[in-house]
Amino acid sequence: MPNTATPTHCPYCALQCGMNLTPAPDGTVEVSERADFPVNRGALCGKGRTAPAVLSTSVRLTSPLVRSGGTLVPASWEEALDRIAEGLTRTRTEHGPDACGVFGGGGLTNEKAYTLGKFARVVLGTSQIDYNGRFCMSSAAAAGIKAFGLDRGLPFPLEDIPKSGCVILVGSNLAETMPPSLRFFNELRENGGTLIVIDPRRTKTAEQADLHLAPRPGTDLALALGMLHLVVAEGRTDEEYIRERTTGWEEARAEALAHWPEYVERITGVSVPELREAVRMFCEPESAMVLTARGPEQQSKGTDTVGAWINLCLATGRAGRPLSGYGCLTGQGNGQGGREHGQKADQLPGYRKLDDPEARRHVAEVWGVDPDSLPGPGRSAYELLDALGTDIRALLLMASNPVVSAPRAAHVEERIKSLDFLAVCDVVLSETAALADVVLPVTQWAEETGTTTNLEGRVLLRKQAITPPSGVRSDLEVMHELADRLGVEKGFPTDAEEVFEELRRASAGGVADYSGITYRRLAEENGVFWPCPADGDAEEAVEHPGTPRLFHDRFATPDGRARFAPVAHRATAEEPDDEYPVLLTTGRVVSQYQSGAQTRRVDELNAAAPGPFVELHPRLAARLGAAEGDPIAVVSRRGRAVAPARITNSIRPDTVFMPFHWPGEGRANTLTNPALDPTSRMPEFKSCAVRLEAVAS
Ligand code: SF4
Repeated sequence: MPNTATPTHCPYCALQCGMNLTPAPDGTVEVSERADFPVNRGALCGKGRTAPAVLSTSVRLTSPLVRSGGTLVPASWEEALDRIAEGLTRTRTEHGPDACGVFGGGGLTNEKAYTLGKFARVVLGTSQIDYNGRFCMSSAAAAGIKAFGLDRGLPFPLEDIPKSGCVILVGSNLAETMPPSLRFFNELRENGGTLIVIDPRRTKTAEQADLHLAPRPGTDLALALGMLHLVVAEGRTDEEYIRERTTGWEEARAEALAHWPEYVERITGVSVPELREAVRMFCEPESAMVLTARGPEQQSKGTDTVGAWINLCLATGRAGRPLSGYGCLTGQGNGQGGREHGQKADQLPGYRKLDDPEARRHVAEVWGVDPDSLPGPGRSAYELLDALGTDIRALLLMASNPVVSAPRAAHVEERIKSLDFLAVCDVVLSETAALADVVLPVTQWAEETGTTTNLEGRVLLRKQAITPPSGVRSDLEVMHELADRLGVEKGFPTDAEEVFEELRRASAGGVADYSGITYRRLAEENGVFWPCPADGDAEEAVEHPGTPRLFHDRFATPDGRARFAPVAHRATAEEPDDEYPVLLTTGRVVSQYQSGAQTRRVDELNAAAPGPFVELHPRLAARLGAAEGDPIAVVSRRGRAVAPARITNSIRPDTVFMPFHWPGEGRANTLTNPALDPTSRMPEFKSCAVRLEAVAS
């Protein structure tokens, strides 16, 4: 590779910040500012700035590993690939195709996510594929599809935020998860707009707000219903909009009116005057937005909770209006694209439904297979992990580390250990890879070209900037080689652009239509928003501008109208009781990313965030007799985690918080509840009942 700067994008979160990468003579890679990318205009958080350290970490895998005599030992690529092919073939022969599972990730490029879905359904013939994005934004996706007929995280560019009149951020700590995005909210306030943050903790983001509401974890749905009640009671509904652009208002209105504010106050802990102030701030300006993130979404009622916030937007005539509407702040780097191209249990490329006969026919034609040969929908992520070792006997896993990131993680770890065969592709020996029978070392972001789709629905070209170390291969090469060994010689190219060309055809006519997008356009235009149809003509294909803003004319439902969700409050799956009297909520810190598999390998990030902690209110700490830094055991019905106390007034006295980036005795997900949302199949990460115990240090 030339020693010149390559414009590319960060490997981590869904902001997909632009950066330049330049190989240095000493073999390292320098990151420099890339001001032309409008999302971050050169700014990066510490994770992005230090991302090259993972490329050359001393624990980088550069040789396949196979299990021999109980330990993982280096092996040739031929031996490792043969072992995987044998393991999958044996499982299929003995137990049927659905005994083979595939688990993907929201960090995979569009090309890899597309190929993984095709590999599962065409090569393995299994229905059992899902991915860790199910744990991220699936509730928002389900609610968005119900209400608008389409799920694109943000239906408008981030650049619209500063021009809006008010933004409600629900359960999002952007100051820690996506720091460069804060500038949009700072500009909003500089322009006279207001920011409302809803979070049980007074986070760094909440500190910047004009109004911070701190509900009990798991009560965001009731809060939204209470606000909608006041909107109705105070005559702030937009009747003309409701009449012309929506359906289902009467039922939603009745539910909201059943939730009188004093009742909401008791459930949420947010006072009626605070609720009234939030309603006033949201309704008075010409334009306003609601943006949700994992707080309301990672609940066993996440779909209804997001639906309640969408109802608020619809009743006040916000959705589909300029500088207004509902959006989801997707988390993972390719969390958006990762859910569009077929690695979800129930979907085919183009964001098509797997049980739709026309969708099956279209995709099967692109793949050159019989539509009837495509399996139907499979299990969702947690259900798939829970079935390991029983119904699912072998697993191929890419870009995920469920031993740390899955709910009820100790149980998931046991399920993984009970597999007949596990193959993992990764760049380091993650906690999950360490349990595998075969580990394949794969290329990373800067070592390969591919596309991602950021939280705005902006498709981006992540360009190769450096030569990968010898000994590693790309995930696309892995799937090509495995398909070949499993008897499918064609249809699994190793070149990302070639895959993208097929993805364009597979997505054509679907909700997420990429058919008018090319690598050339992505490079020239700094990204293109989907849908971007080709319109059936190569010349016109490059002329479609893409779609930065959705729903201004009509929603993507059959009748063009948005649908209210008739949602009612219900308790979290696990309320506190005498035995487990405190609520645990989990989340992120600025210097670590997801399961930490990459960021825990970066010295600077580890120095800033060396391990887990239990954040608790001084009153709880006093009851426990705990001082700052004392080890505290947090015990739930699923297990026990121990971490030092971090005592602060910024959290509710009935709630403790733990970040989930670490394995071992401080693993927060040992505690979390796998109760699932009935629609999105999202686990209840954000709320479970625990008790605290002092630990002798
Ligand atoms: Fe990377 Fe996200 Fe940080 Fe931007 S905010 S540098 S995309 S981790």
